[in-house]
Amino acid sequence: MTISLDLVNNDEEFRNLQRDPIIVNDFKTDTQEEKDLILGKIMTKYNSDVMDSVPRCDCGNIHGADRKDEYCKDCLSYCSHRLEDKIESILWARVPEEVTGFVNPMVWTMLTKFFKKGGFDVIQWLTNTNYASNSREPSEAKLILAMGIKRGYNNFINNFDQILELMLQIPTYKKKQNKDELVGFIQMFRDKIFSRYLPFPNRALLVIENTDFDRFAEPVIFSAINAINTITSIDCSLIKPKLWVRENRTAKTVAAIAEFTEQYFRDHVAKKTGLFRKHFYGSRSHHSFRAVITSITRPHKYDEIHVPWIVAMGAFRTFLQNKLERRGYTLNQINEKLNRHASLYDEELNDIFLELINESPEKGIPVTFCRNPTLGMGSIQRVRITRVKTDVNDPTISMSILIVRAFNADFDGDAMGAQIMMDNFMAEMSRALCPHRNILDPNTPRQINDHPSMAKTVVSNTGNWFKEVVTSQPTAAMEEFAL
Ligand SMILES: [Zn+2]
Repeated sequence: MTISLDLVNNDEEFRNLQRDPIIVNDFKTDTQEEKDLILGKIMTKYNSDVMDSVPRCDCGNIHGADRKDEYCKDCLSYCSHRLEDKIESILWARVPEEVTGFVNPMVWTMLTKFFKKGGFDVIQWLTNTNYASNSREPSEAKLILAMGIKRGYNNFINNFDQILELMLQIPTYKKKQNKDELVGFIQMFRDKIFSRYLPFPNRALLVIENTDFDRFAEPVIFSAINAINTITSIDCSLIKPKLWVRENRTAKTVAAIAEFTEQYFRDHVAKKTGLFRKHFYGSRSHHSFRAVITSITRPHKYDEIHVPWIVAMGAFRTFLQNKLERRGYTLNQINEKLNRHASLYDEELNDIFLELINESPEKGIPVTFCRNPTLGMGSIQRVRITRVKTDVNDPTISMSILIVRAFNADFDGDAMGAQIMMDNFMAEMSRALCPHRNILDPNTPRQINDHPSMAKTVVSNTGNWFKEVVTSQPTAAMEEFAL
């Protein structure tokens, strides 16, 4: 499974909005109240730890489940469930009159980064004739002008392809490593780069918290506010700004939104505490499970694992549903049975588990078994589930002490995860991860590493066992093992 981000077509998003948006261009903000009203659309204020579950409009004049979807003229919002709202932008900018279009903020960021010289933002300088920088104008700027490229936002958009081609001929940029990548990206998403509408962030993304001591806001809010202030009321001022003013303000808006997007992604999406990790990598995928490990104390093969009842009920749910259906259960009966026995033993379900195990090619359901971090060879191995524990009070996965070395696992509370191999093809392919494939030392040819070595507890156990054999009659378990 891979995640990749597509470039959003903003105009298409705009056409598919579920609720009427607010266009900031047409919104007069002469008073502080009006300004606050607009800013309130991009952030959520929390005054306490309790979240309101009753539908309401932004100002609260309309509230109650019976008035859901009613429109409030005071605060320009619909009466809705705050927690169930679809995450779409409420605030949008329309491209000001006679200005050609917005640039997609993602593309803007890429261009800006690529053409930046020191602290000097060449793209901003090119598109915004008011651009002022603390850094000295680089020689590239003069070269651009010498090539006949004029500054100005509309000019940049109208002649985008030609200007880009010319600029990429400047030696500094021509020899840049990621030049081909940039060109390829632009070509791939050419139809999504320009748009007539540009969204401001949805308010669920930005949170302000009022506490007894202080107000907390995320710093990323300022670039969003900056973007809104630049373009608000641009089309409804009494004195219409000149075209070059509108062009410059458009450039500034795009730059501010781009800065916001980048900052937001860097701080809230991509980071270790970011959304991807929180919601995707951090959640359990289908047909997988994870639990604390313990050792198998009865005779066993080294690639066996025994899984807890509760875990098997979750991970094998689809299998159980199929088996029960074949046994004549209706869908409702199936769900009822599975839910009731999620942590309660059942004879018939245990029968099915045994059936599943017996049907598997090696009399055990193959899974890949993993202990994080997966740095060394052998931290993921293919093992077989040969038993579902009937004691529902045992929540641990039992595994063999003989293969803990490669996992670097011990039984002091380590948790390990497993992924079920869903069919014979996967079962076959995963053989490459079998424990016996991990015993050659990758650093030294024809040398065996320490993975097959026995753990100290096993050695002392075996010692005790031999001593016992000498002094007493063999037990039933010893006989079984000897066979
Ligand atoms: Zn209201």
